[in-house]
This record gives sequence, structure tokens and C-alpha cells, in this order.
Amino acid sequence: MREWIELISLALLCPYGLLVPCVWIDAPIPRLSGVLMSPPLLSPMANHRRVLALFSGTLIGSLMLSGCLGNPPNREGASSGSTPNATPVANANLEVKTISLGYIPILEAAPLVIGVEKGFFAKHGLEVNLSKQASWGAARDNLVLGAAGGGIDGGQWQLPMPQMISEGAITNGKKVPMVILAMLMSQGNGIAASNTVKDGNLTVDLKTSSPGFFDKFSQKQGRKFKAAYTFPKANQEIWIRYWFAAGGVNPDQAVELLKVPAPETLQGMRNGTMEAFSTGDPWPNRIAKDNIGYLAATTAQIWKVHPEEYLAVRADWVDKNPKAAVALLKGLIEAQMWLDKPENKDEAATILSSRKWYNVPLPVLQASLKGQYTIGAAGTPQTNPAMGPLYWNSDRGVISYPYKSLTLWFLIESMRWKFFPGTIDTIEQAKAINNKVTREDLWRQAAKEVGVPEKDIPTGSSRGKETFFDGVVYDPENPQAYLSSLKIKK
Ligand code: CA
Repeated sequence: MREWIELISLALLCPYGLLVPCVWIDAPIPRLSGVLMSPPLLSPMANHRRVLALFSGTLIGSLMLSGCLGNPPNREGASSGSTPNATPVANANLEVKTISLGYIPILEAAPLVIGVEKGFFAKHGLEVNLSKQASWGAARDNLVLGAAGGGIDGGQWQLPMPQMISEGAITNGKKVPMVILAMLMSQGNGIAASNTVKDGNLTVDLKTSSPGFFDKFSQKQGRKFKAAYTFPKANQEIWIRYWFAAGGVNPDQAVELLKVPAPETLQGMRNGTMEAFSTGDPWPNRIAKDNIGYLAATTAQIWKVHPEEYLAVRADWVDKNPKAAVALLKGLIEAQMWLDKPENKDEAATILSSRKWYNVPLPVLQASLKGQYTIGAAGTPQTNPAMGPLYWNSDRGVISYPYKSLTLWFLIESMRWKFFPGTIDTIEQAKAINNKVTREDLWRQAAKEVGVPEKDIPTGSSRGKETFFDGVVYDPENPQAYLSSLKIKK
């Protein structure tokens, strides 16, 4: 039925040169599906479309033609664009042919999905079976099970989940050593605020935009301002805590932080369960588009080219399959390079928006991938790809390389808020854990083998000093100086 509605809508829209899906579907995150996928094979229809693309000369032309000529858009997310898939390299000679990885349907997972859909993993002899995870907690539990136990070998993580799973700090004491192999994406996250607090005019710099707002809110409402994340003690909570504290708002006193399951964030903001939440695209853009709230701050505003989520895999898998681990990284690097190209953004959005992957409206993903945001209570449109999700290039060098200086920061921030007492109490402990879990050598080998120019391959473990929007500096050579400089901490 839905396909028919879309088909009619396409027929109506094509004469006006528009290709817009007419049915927008809410996207609750389904239970762990265990979906196993094989590398994409082009159907005869896809080949047909490619011939049409040659005639029409442009991607948009090919999409419109395929729509107008009666092929409904491919909602199952197979190679629906017009760029050719990667060609397999002969004799990959890996220890193992498959790996099971988990993902959460947000933009951080895009390199994994594109690696599968565009054949980049298959090119290097590895079949990546991606399964959507119901939540971050489910991903953690599936990692502990391992693929042999019906779970996963690794996947997409907020930090410091891999370090803390390795130490047993978030797995009821069960230590499952992991290896952080690459950064998946930088930026592309944000703090969304409800329309009910438009009068607060919340921006990245709360000291300037909203002095005294949270105390006034408590007095007026008889309760504290509530701010949510979907998983505690990792990126989302770390960003929102950083934001409050930089604004002079103590997140443990002036507001109430709470955990809300991902599928309930939109509804929760509608019905007042919380006034703000911290999450990844497409959600912050989604609430603005659906007129539920506004984007108070992007994480790119808080810390330009900041570390976001990472690819990490069980250490036993990497130890047993070092060649396959390098093949995985080769496919990932190529997928990240592909995703970063402006001319591939529409095709990426089409693949990711499909029901098989994220099941969210295409225009929301197109906007997010291109760095188009509506920012602030006034809803000011901004387009700046340099402030959107980054997968490969940046003015701080390649995104993908797993700098130990960056993965360490999440452990230092965990010390700041006393997230894991008994596991990370000192900088020496933080460094020791981080040095065990983050590996840069496999990334370097993969980059060389895949032909990344020598100048783009970092040689050390530090990206150097990092500066936040409030002027605070994190010098990885001296994390104690960073901790001491922070006025609000636990
Ligand atoms: Ca994120």
C-alpha cells in the first residue's frame, strides 16, 4: 500500500522536478533483529537504472527517471544510487570470512552501512553482517555474548564503553577485552531543547544566552529542568554535562539528568518528560523539523572536530584474525572517504533512510549529512558542511585514525564526574586502560595497503592540544592541568 502511495506521489512530483517521499514514518528502533546481510548484488533492474543514468548524465536525473518511469524507490536500501560498487580484490586470504557487528541507526553508523551497501568490505574479502541494536545496553550485552553465543563481535560504540567493557565496569564485573580500531565519525551530535523552553533561548554559550534561566525554571515550575540521554556515562551524557558546566550550571545540582530509551525521546519531549536531550543526528534535526523543539547547541560548536563514536571489536577476535581486522579497516576507510564526498551525500541519504536501515525521512538525513541545521530558539537556518558530520577530512587531519589522546579524553572526563570509582580514579589508571584498548598500528597498516597518501597517515598517538568553545584547553601531555582548570566537577 505504502509503495503505491509513494508511486502516485512520485508520478505527481516528477513533472515539477522534485523527488520527495510523501509518507513519513515514525521510526521506533526495533528489537535486535539479527538481520544478516550478504554483500549487495546488482539486480537487472539496478543495471537498467545505471544505463538510464548514463543517458541522463546526473544522479538526480537518474533518480527522477527511475521514479518517473515507474520503478518505486528501493525502500529496501539495496544499491539504489548510481555510483558503482567496489570490485572485490582477488585472494584476500583472510583467517575468517565474516564478522558480526552491531549498529544504532544514527549517522555514526553510516560508514558501516555504506561499507556493506557499496561493497567496500566485500572488496577486501570480508562479509560484514550488520545487525541493528535495540539500545546501547543491548549492544553491550550482545558484545559480551560474542557472535559465537548469538551476539556480536563488535561494532559502533560511544566512549568509554569499549574501555569499560574491557574492565568489566559496565558488565557486572565480567571483563571482555576490546580493541578500539577507528573513529567512525566526528561532530553530528547535538543538544535539543523543547519548544516549552524557547523563552530560555538556550544556545551553546549558556552564560551569554541564558543567565539564571535554570534557577528561574526551578522556582517557577517547582521542579528542576530535566535533561536526558539514552545511555549513561558515555558521549551523550558527557556532552550535556560539558555544556551545562561550561555555562556555569552544575549538572548535579541545578538540573536533573535522566536516562530515556531512544524510541521515547521524541514523545518524551512532546509530553514534557524532559526539556532537553543529548543525542546524535538525525534526532536533533528531526525535532526541529517536526516542530517539537529546537537545536540549542551542536557538539561541533562545543568542540570542533571532536571525537564522537568508534569502531571497536572484541580483542579475542582481533588477536585470532589480524588480517581480517586489517581488511575490516580497509573497507571502513574506503567507506569513510566515499561518505565524505559532497557528490555522494544524496546517495548516502537514500541508502540510510530506507526501511532496511534507519527508516527515517530522506530530507532529514539529506540535511544532516550536508551540515544543514536550523539552530537556536529563533530557528536560524545554517548550512556549513564543516560543522556537520565528518567522516574523513578535517582541518585536524583524518577523522578515522584512533588517536590515543582522543580516546583518553573520555576517561579523563569520566574522572571529572567520578563515573567509575574503583576503575578509573587516577590518570595513571586511565592511561593504562586506554593504552591497552586503543590500537593505532592496524589502522596505519590498513591505510598504507589501501593507498592513503603518506602525509595523511598520522605517525604518533597525539593530535595535540584541544580547545573547547569556552576556552578550556585539554593538553594530552598534561591531563591533570585540564582537570584542575575545570571549575565545575564532582
Ligand atoms: Ca553519538
